[in-house]
Amino acid sequence: MKSKILDLIDFDKVNTLLEGFNKSTGFVTAILDLEGNVLSKSGWRQICTQFHRVNTETSHRCTISDTVLAGKMKKGDDYHFYKCLNGMVDVAVPIIIKGEHIANLFSGQFFLEKPDITFFIKQAEKYNFNKEEYLKALNTVPIISEDRVKVIMSFLLNMTNLISEITFQKHELMELNDALRSNQERYRLLLENSMDAILLTSTEGTILSANKAACDMFQRTEEEICKLGRNGVVKLDDPRLAVFIEERKRYGKAQGELLMIRKDKTVFPVELSSSLFMDQDGIIRTSMIIRDITERKRVEEQLIEAKEKAEEANKLKTEFLNNMSHEIRTPMNGIIGFSEMLDLPDLSSDKRSYFAKIIKNSSLQLLRIIDDIIDISILETKKEKLNETEFCLNDFLMEQFSIFNLKSKERNIPFYIKKAFHDNQSYIISDKTKLAKILGNLLDNAIKYTSSGYIEFGYYQEEKNLVIYVKDTGIGIAPKNHRIIFERFSQGDKDISRKYGGLGLGLSISKENAQILGGNITLKSEKGTGSTFFVSLPYKPGKTNKANVSVSSTNELPKTKPVILLAEDEEINYLYIEALFEDKKYRDFKLVHVKNGKEAVDYCLNSDDVKLVLMDIKMPVMNGHEATRLIKSKLPDLPIIAQTAYSAESDKEEALQNGCDNFISKPINKEKLFGLIKEYTKVG
Ligand code: ADP
Repeated sequence: MKSKILDLIDFDKVNTLLEGFNKSTGFVTAILDLEGNVLSKSGWRQICTQFHRVNTETSHRCTISDTVLAGKMKKGDDYHFYKCLNGMVDVAVPIIIKGEHIANLFSGQFFLEKPDITFFIKQAEKYNFNKEEYLKALNTVPIISEDRVKVIMSFLLNMTNLISEITFQKHELMELNDALRSNQERYRLLLENSMDAILLTSTEGTILSANKAACDMFQRTEEEICKLGRNGVVKLDDPRLAVFIEERKRYGKAQGELLMIRKDKTVFPVELSSSLFMDQDGIIRTSMIIRDITERKRVEEQLIEAKEKAEEANKLKTEFLNNMSHEIRTPMNGIIGFSEMLDLPDLSSDKRSYFAKIIKNSSLQLLRIIDDIIDISILETKKEKLNETEFCLNDFLMEQFSIFNLKSKERNIPFYIKKAFHDNQSYIISDKTKLAKILGNLLDNAIKYTSSGYIEFGYYQEEKNLVIYVKDTGIGIAPKNHRIIFERFSQGDKDISRKYGGLGLGLSISKENAQILGGNITLKSEKGTGSTFFVSLPYKPGKTNKANVSVSSTNELPKTKPVILLAEDEEINYLYIEALFEDKKYRDFKLVHVKNGKEAVDYCLNSDDVKLVLMDIKMPVMNGHEATRLIKSKLPDLPIIAQTAYSAESDKEEALQNGCDNFISKPINKEKLFGLIKEYTKVG
């Protein structure tokens, strides 16, 4: 501390002052610290500089005199006279700064009365000084009256006070500066280390400073932010902004959520606290503390979504229970009611079997509900296991086809199947039971939700997947319901579920089963235009597959082959004829399948390859008679052979009248068919 204060004294200036003082008064001076180190000196006497301060012993005495004797000042003394150990008179004035005695200003090296020469002669002898020179130097030491000394001393005293005061002020100023600097540093650290962005702006919106967090948040340098101004970082069309500004104007501060813009133009939500304050120059400024709340908002949204989901699930469960009660009661009423009626005494056998059929159907309906609920419970335990075996996909699909063909027939909806692989090549490894459950649900729905048009199902390979699809031309599903219908207990539009019934479990069971098989179910549908459900599974070909037999789809034969066009709406009949054509002998033809008379006409009129048409008579959209007339009117030489289930002579005649060249009745005889083909095409 002491040395620090001493450092503050400008000794160069003090020296100049003391030298001037020495020249004008003849008084020598020095400033020594409390350890006796000389900090400044002027005009010292020869006797001191050439003798007393040169010899080691006398010099040591000088130090003792300067420290010990000078230090013996009584408290409150302004100055202190003493005789130094080398015989001179000295006077010390304490330099006190901030109440602390830190140094002494010395004057002296004079006598108040004539000196005792013998003392100095002895001293010269003792310390081996050149006596003559020593006494000569002694002679130059002035003898000064005490009164004069006192005047000089009071001047020196004033001077030391002045030095003290200046030093004190300098010290205080430095301390103030230090405090200011550390204050500023603390403030800077606070700004720089704040996790929130902090902007200082003028009331007009100029940004005066931006901290590091602000630069990170806006992805800009401080310079860029300042150049942009407040309007460049705030989303101005946010309706909350005007309210925020109004509140800040009214209360001097405001807090709220707004939107801001990054350099890459992305908009993000922030929480902003802003207040008006007056700076050191009396100018009103605005501080803005900004926190990016993107993450918080995301979590909030997730929570809201989860809450809505939970509420929706709850609602669905209630709806499910209501539905379930209705779905169970309906078949139960049927079973109980008709069982009682079976007991009626005069019941005809026709009625009895009709009631028994109703009871059976109601029981099956009930069984399906129980199955679905058991399935859901098993799926919920996540204990459902895969049971993969190798099987022929074509055979498996044909089994499904036969089951659902009966149901579609009941509703008078044509049902088609499309197979991509030859039977020999269609072995796959998968879980047959689960696949049957999935397709069963999809086909049930297709039939349930389709009242006109057709249903088609089949499969194809897509890279490493096998895609089995079920397509219908039914009521369709609005895209907004595409996700929800796969959730448990969920049924899409309420008016539809009211009309068609059901529990909303089938698709969720199917989807979960498809996922257990390593695949998924997706959907393409629009309201009113039908739906196609795609079950994609990892394609695992079976070992039984025969090497590279050409695919069964006749459509994939080379184009140059003559085309036999088969117009047939019944899938089973098409499959039968397709199978006949697979015989090696008849591979010279390409069999093309169309599903009604209109398609047959379009195909014939737009293709040069058709060599013969096998025309079914009873078909949807346009029947075989009309199609034949239209084709023959444009292509009279194209042979058309009618094929129909009606074998009466009149049918044959009607067909011939409409332009058919010949006639074959169903069930089709293989030899007869190919005989006719050979006859009319001259091929085979
Ligand atoms: P459910 O048929 O018992 O209601 P699902 O889970 O099988 O339950 O189907 C859920 C909902 O999906 C049905 O209520 C229906 O709205 C819709 N849906 C399913 N399949 C079809 C389809 N082929 N055509 C139109 N809507 C369908």
